[in-house]
Amino acid sequence: MTDSIQKAVSVGDRARKIYFWGIGPIDAQRCDFARVKLERYRESRMLLHLSTWLEVEDYLERSKGIILPIGSTEQHGPTGLIGTDAICAEAIARGVGEVTQALVAPTINVGMALHHTAFPGSMSLRPSTLILLIRDYITSLARAGFTRFFFINGHGGNVATLKAAFAEVYATLVDLNVPMAEQVQCQVSNWYMCGAVYRLAKELYGDQEGSHATPSEVALTQYVYPEAIKQAPLNESVAKGHTIYGAVDFRRRYPDGRMGSNPALATPEHGKQFYELAVKELSSTYLEFLGAASSQG
Ligand SMILES: [Zn+2]
Repeated sequence: MTDSIQKAVSVGDRARKIYFWGIGPIDAQRCDFARVKLERYRESRMLLHLSTWLEVEDYLERSKGIILPIGSTEQHGPTGLIGTDAICAEAIARGVGEVTQALVAPTINVGMALHHTAFPGSMSLRPSTLILLIRDYITSLARAGFTRFFFINGHGGNVATLKAAFAEVYATLVDLNVPMAEQVQCQVSNWYMCGAVYRLAKELYGDQEGSHATPSEVALTQYVYPEAIKQAPLNESVAKGHTIYGAVDFRRRYPDGRMGSNPALATPEHGKQFYELAVKELSSTYLEFLGAASSQG
């Protein structure tokens, strides 16, 4: 982001014009590129990695909350991006950060996806490693004064490990005598479980939503990265309903990586709808989490 864009935006949120060097002011309402630049700039103001420590210190004066996007790097069928779960969680977390003016931590891109690792490109942490990673992330932030940790999750396989990690965190912070350890609270919200998201997915796709490499998550990645939309032939019949064991067994039961889904139904326009519904609902959930947490001291 250039200084000239910063200057235009610094006029205030009502600023609509982006100044392009050598071109002059362009109305962000009339130019998609300028609009995207302005949106990205607004979101970037709440990103931890684009902040200074002085800004974080100021932020802690008004809020102890932070949003942590967590996804996965795993196969998503013949047309889904390997980064689907991380891309979805990150985009939504940034949107929620902007709406609620909450800081957003760096995305945890690799999660617990051991059962996908028989497909090339999939990466996974073991549950025990993910627990340690979460513990270390939260410990460092809690030492700085953060006490409310809101995880926006894009991958069902992370949930059990995240909950185990929270239990580990609470005990560890007390053992380490971290100040305010007793006030630390963690919560995980899965964007794909938002009521409005679930209803729209049912309405648009019915049973073809499936449970992995779903059209709803693929649609969201198409909205975020329209330049990376993939095409590939999809078998009409798709495996579903099998219990998950190891990676080789998973690939044998789900040969193309999909679980009961038809991602060919996805469109970027659907993705925009899912994005907006998830940001709206999770913004409320985050604010409730902060409110409930502070009313308990
Ligand atoms: Zn996924």
